[in-house]
Amino acid sequence: MDVTLTLLGTGTSHGVPCIACGCEVCSSGDPRNQRFRCSALLQYEGYSVVIDTATEFRLQALRAGMTTLDAVLFTHSHADHISGLDDVRSFSERQGEAIPCYGCEECLGDIRRRFDYIFTETQLGGGKPRLELIPTEGPFDLHGLRVLPVPVLHGRLPVLGFRFGPAAYVTDCNQISSDSMELLKGLDLLVLDALRWRSHPTHFNVEQALEVVEQLRPGRVYFTHVTHDLDHAATNAALPEGVELAYDGLRLQFEV
Ligand SMILES: [Zn+2]
Ligand SMILES: [Zn+2]
Ligand SMILES: [Zn+2]
Repeated sequence: MDVTLTLLGTGTSHGVPCIACGCEVCSSGDPRNQRFRCSALLQYEGYSVVIDTATEFRLQALRAGMTTLDAVLFTHSHADHISGLDDVRSFSERQGEAIPCYGCEECLGDIRRRFDYIFTETQLGGGKPRLELIPTEGPFDLHGLRVLPVPVLHGRLPVLGFRFGPAAYVTDCNQISSDSMELLKGLDLLVLDALRWRSHPTHFNVEQALEVVEQLRPGRVYFTHVTHDLDHAATNAALPEGVELAYDGLRLQFEV
C-alpha cells in the first residue's frame, strides 16, 4: 500500500525563527527556514496517524488539512513533542471516541502527570481530549501498517524512533545502539535528527548524522529537528548526494 509521510514540523525545540533573534536564518525570506516544532503525519488507506503532538499541533493540523486522527505515536515526552496534545480534542470530539496514543511506559507516565486534567474526572463542558494510552512492547499493527519501535538514546533519555517497512523516522537522538542499527538496515527512506553543525550533548550534529547515514546507506535521507544555525539552501548545498535538509510540509511517499 502507498503511505505518505508529511513532515509537519522540522524545527528544534525553540522553533525557527527563535523568539527575539535577528540572525540571518530567523529573518530569512525563505519559507523553508521557518520551522515548527517536530512532528510528522502518516496517511495510508484513509487513515491518519501523527508522530508526536508538537507545540504547533493545531496549526500543523490546519495546514495539512487534517480532518481525522486515528492514532498518535510518541517518540518521547519533551515539551516540544507533546505540548500540542490538548488540541487532539478536536478529533476525539468529532469522532466520538478516544484516540489511541502509543509510547514507551516512561513517556506515557510523563504525559499522565503533565496533562493530569485530561485523566481526572471533571464537570462536563470543559472539552478535554479523550485518549487511550497504550504502552508499546515491540512491533505492532496499526490499521494494517506494521510499526516497529526503534529504541535510541537522546543523551541519557530513551526515545523511540519508528520504522514502517522501508521508511523510518528517528528524531531526538545522539546515539543508536548496534541492535537498533540492525533494525534500521535496508531503508529506502530515513528522517533523522541533525541539529546543527556544532556538537550538542543530546542531539546528533550534521557530521554525526552523516556518519549514521554512511553506515546505514538509506536510499534517501532528510535531516530534521533543525536549529537556526542551518540555512536551508546553504546547508543543502553542502550535504552529500541523497541527503537533504527537511522542511515543514515536505511530503514523502513510500510503499509497504
Ligand atoms: Zn525535540
Ligand atoms: Zn536566529
Ligand atoms: Zn527531545
